[in-house]
Amino acid sequence: MPETNRQVLLQRRPNGMPAPEDFAIVDAPLPEPGEGQVLLRGIYLSLDPYMRGRISGQRSYAKPTELGDVIEGRVVGQVARSRHYGFKEGDYAFGGYGWQTYSAVDGRGLTKLDPAAAPMSTALGILGMPGLTAYVGLKTIGQPKAGEIVVVSAASGAVGAVAGQLAKREGCRVVGIAGGADKCRYVTDELGFDACLDHRRELGAALDAACPKGIDVYFENVGGAVQRAVYPRLNDFGRMIMCGMISEYNDVEPQPGPSLVAAVRKRLRIQGFIVSDHAASRPEYLAMAAPLVRSGAIKYREDIVDGIDNAPAAFIGLLQGKNFGKLIVKLGADPTR
Ligand code: NDP
Repeated sequence: MPETNRQVLLQRRPNGMPAPEDFAIVDAPLPEPGEGQVLLRGIYLSLDPYMRGRISGQRSYAKPTELGDVIEGRVVGQVARSRHYGFKEGDYAFGGYGWQTYSAVDGRGLTKLDPAAAPMSTALGILGMPGLTAYVGLKTIGQPKAGEIVVVSAASGAVGAVAGQLAKREGCRVVGIAGGADKCRYVTDELGFDACLDHRRELGAALDAACPKGIDVYFENVGGAVQRAVYPRLNDFGRMIMCGMISEYNDVEPQPGPSLVAAVRKRLRIQGFIVSDHAASRPEYLAMAAPLVRSGAIKYREDIVDGIDNAPAAFIGLLQGKNFGKLIVKLGADPTR
């Protein structure tokens, strides 16, 4: 076991797009697990768009990361030492303890993982928070019906890929929006969406051609120019699932918003949600999704970056669309792969 714990700390609050200097990479002493805790060796760290909000210092639905603190994030790891009756050395588990290679964590906050059931990294993506987000957003807000037109932005990403595949399974026509030809090809050829439009090209005419009867459900992951193109094309009684607006997370000045007058005329339902309010739906989601992932009926893609020192650059890339699939940092060896 090493003597030190490599950590990424919040050095400075970003102004606009985060810069490498906003992060500090340090070596801290290896933590000692207290009574009821385990020392977890990190294997995979999840990088997610919500982290941009946490490091901004803004008040939100969750507490911001303070300057000098380890940046928060979910990690899959292996128990290196245990002082909790429920865990023994060598067990695999996941929990939220941030951008660091080791952590002393309460056993209560850890979920044990069975590496035989699914690759462990999937606990951070398709079978984790992003997958559940797609499921909950569609089920509680979108409620797509067979034959309806569903548009999904950030369609090749962790949430969008699942949202579109689930809508397809409901018998909808599903149109993705993604950045670039490679991602669009993946979304249609691998994920099975009916079409995928490149948001770097003119989107309005492309949406008219792909959705000549308008849009019934919009799974919103992006905001900004993409939202402004989709919103006027929503049909009467359309539903807009307000999941995230990543294109606006680095804005210093707010963007001009859509006029919401049409929401009245068209009787639209525009509803936001936060996946952590829906933890109770996790078993239901896993019971549905895990067999489909195992059989290959639902596909996923991971973008695994090697080494904690590369986490800041990978996170900045996520905010610029450089990731292709669920973005994960490999913190250490995975004995199961
Ligand atoms: P992704 O894996 O989809 O990665 C982010 C993607 O966003 C990028 O790859 C890029 O895809 C797209 N993107 C980034 N910047 C822009 C831009 N300026 N314009 C258009 N697209 C952009 O991330 P997730 O699937 O993890 O998250 C997707 C969304 O879901 C985010 O908005 C996130 O905040 C939200 N979310 C909300 C939750 C909730 O509880 N409400 C929970 C989890 C996630 P491309 O190259 O295709 O443009």
